[in-house]
Amino acid sequence: MREARFYEKLENKGVICRLCAFNCTIPEGKTGTCRVRKNIDGTLYSLNYDKVSIANPDNIEKKPLYHFAPGSHAFSIATPGCNWRCKYCQNWDLSQGEIEGKSISPEEIVRRAKDAGCQGISYTYSEPTIFYELTYDTAKIAHKEGLYNTYVTNGYMNLEPIREISPYMDAVTVDFKGSGEKDFLRKFSSVPSPEPIYRGLEEWRKRKVHVEITDLLVPNIGDSMEKTRDLVKWVKENLGDETPIHFIRFFPHYLVLDLPQTPLVTLEEAYDIAREEGMKYVYIGNVFGEKNNTYCPRCGKILINRLGMKTLEYRIMDGKCPYCNEKINIKGEKWIPINK
Ligand code: SF4
Repeated sequence: MREARFYEKLENKGVICRLCAFNCTIPEGKTGTCRVRKNIDGTLYSLNYDKVSIANPDNIEKKPLYHFAPGSHAFSIATPGCNWRCKYCQNWDLSQGEIEGKSISPEEIVRRAKDAGCQGISYTYSEPTIFYELTYDTAKIAHKEGLYNTYVTNGYMNLEPIREISPYMDAVTVDFKGSGEKDFLRKFSSVPSPEPIYRGLEEWRKRKVHVEITDLLVPNIGDSMEKTRDLVKWVKENLGDETPIHFIRFFPHYLVLDLPQTPLVTLEEAYDIAREEGMKYVYIGNVFGEKNNTYCPRCGKILINRLGMKTLEYRIMDGKCPYCNEKINIKGEKWIPINK
């Protein structure tokens, strides 16, 4: 436990937390919506700073980040807790479970990442916003040691925390659910509005942090293709047509076990919409197949060949297609461990 950042003290020992867009007002003795920030005697504490529950290497493609340091390994850490309450959560035992884990210092996380042969660290699985203090302290040390940092996030962080951590953050995957449709998020995630996600994305972009978008399509309740088109248009207009976008298959979890997995036809329709709208790098996630590969947007040749979440072949040369010389949106080449 340690004192939290980004909060204001109120009268009668109350506080307002300004870390995420919920901006919780927290009376003395209570926790915020995320359950891991507690007001103790008028001071806000991060309860999960020393509660690391996952610490292991993953392929960077698992995040998914397909255009950042392909083939590298990210030491992936998480603590319990989340600011969202998704009834379809894929990691609900972590996000909504007990607040327990091990105390691992930022120095120790970086040391373990290097010992495991990782090129970077990813703050993932639950929601990194709610263990911000640990991510910030770790990310600074990781950069000094030559490792990259990435967030996998629901995008609900406020702008000031984004500004503070962006010098140390190399890439961010922002996970939309149901294409960010307002009623779906309100009903199934207890999120009042998707607007803060868009403001946050603009800020990451402004700070020149590499961004990829995922969109979990949940059948029957969060799979409106009209909304998918709206999301794609927003991404193209505000982040650019080179922003990678991944449509992710849902599998039944947690409180919506009665739903089927996302039909392939739905994912392919979303894929086609994104291509029709002019997005250059579109993927289907949680499904093996050719829509995991990266193709040159100009000549159509395969540039990165993947098997599921693993990079098998990397053909890009100095950020360009080796067949037609088209410039390709690839970041973090210095961390690519595979032979070009
Ligand atoms: S981080 Fe937690 S306490 Fe702070 S505003 Fe968000 S949900 Fe509320």
